[in-house]
Amino acid sequence: MREVLQVRFSEIYLKGLNRPYFLRMLVERVRDAVRAVNGHVWLSDSRVYVSDATDQTEAIRRLTKVFGVHSVCRALEMDKGDFDAVQEAAVRLMSDVRGTFKVEARRSDKRYFMDSPAINAEIGHTLITRLPELRVDVRKPETVLSVEIRDHAYLYTAPIPAVGGMPVGTNGRATFLLSGGIDSPVAGWMIAKRGVSMSAVHFQSPPYTSERAKEKVLALGRILSESLCGLRVHLVPFTNIQMQIHEKCHQDYTTLIMRRYMMRLANRVAYAERAQALVTGESIGQVASQTMHALQCTDIVADIPVFRPLIGFDKQEIIDIAERIGTFETSSLPYEDCCTVFTPRHPATKPKMEIILEGEAKLDTDALLDEAMAGEEIVTL
Ligand code: ATP
Ligand code: MG
Repeated sequence: MREVLQVRFSEIYLKGLNRPYFLRMLVERVRDAVRAVNGHVWLSDSRVYVSDATDQTEAIRRLTKVFGVHSVCRALEMDKGDFDAVQEAAVRLMSDVRGTFKVEARRSDKRYFMDSPAINAEIGHTLITRLPELRVDVRKPETVLSVEIRDHAYLYTAPIPAVGGMPVGTNGRATFLLSGGIDSPVAGWMIAKRGVSMSAVHFQSPPYTSERAKEKVLALGRILSESLCGLRVHLVPFTNIQMQIHEKCHQDYTTLIMRRYMMRLANRVAYAERAQALVTGESIGQVASQTMHALQCTDIVADIPVFRPLIGFDKQEIIDIAERIGTFETSSLPYEDCCTVFTPRHPATKPKMEIILEGEAKLDTDALLDEAMAGEEIVTL
């Protein structure tokens, strides 16, 4: 008998013919996750198992963060032919448990010499005999003892919930616009959770933004990179574009025009990354550049879809997720962002396209974009 971690997957069961592919990807992601604790990983009978990790708690922490994992169980594994051993394992697992319980047996091996109701009855009987403080309640038990008869017998009590989603790499690629704020890391994380491989672009405006602001963004990238399975961050200089906009465009429109240039540059990064979509942390009405009218004006310059997973979220809902995924504290550090440097006093909330185009006509857009891209720095995390 030994302890193993049984890793259950979430939506993959919906994938008909593609299921083996999704499972293979999940196994790869699980392997990546437990490499640091030397976990041994294998796939058997539609379940992924991990054994021999040098640090079991750390292995569980890592596994519950892997996109595609529904839950993790600390299970006892033993030879299913030895039913006495199965009974002993049940007693061992339940010896610290108090209150009501039920046994829930499942067999994927239908030729097993006992059927599920018989297993439930046998083990239930043993438990109440050997551990008299336990009581059976088949309707609303406090503890469910699961018994799975597969290639081996597996017993476990409380599955530990994991993040869910789909394995990274199964659903194409996207580039997210990563600022140092609270929203954009959450947005990138949410799209990655659906199995999308992410890259990021950050716009910096030295000397108006400092080296520390850049470090903050890279720190956020590093936090995310564990769940995102690594992350390439493109750091693109934005100072000259901002200065030109500031000099030549209508004052109330500077933020909006700036956002259109960000989209154009992000679009170029996405092209280089072979990404199919852009992702931002915008939510309707949060600031002037995120009104419905403003969003329409920024959306239109990208030639791939722009996903905004936070579009209907309140700030507090976004903060709750940021706390859960561990980015909130870093996002709250008070370094300046390039958007805050040149903020207009009365930003247009119902911008007129003619005024935007009139302003942009005074700029040599292609040259500005080429120049910014030429100064790009790529950091792999
Ligand atoms: P956040 O908390 O994500 O910074 P915000 O409320 O500050 O959001 P804005 O500054 O208007 O909103 O930015 C909206 C979105 O534009 C961000 O969520 C992010 O995706 C993108 N963005 C803003 N600034 C930058 C930047 N310097 N580099 C890359 N992307 C940016
Ligand atoms: Mg911001």
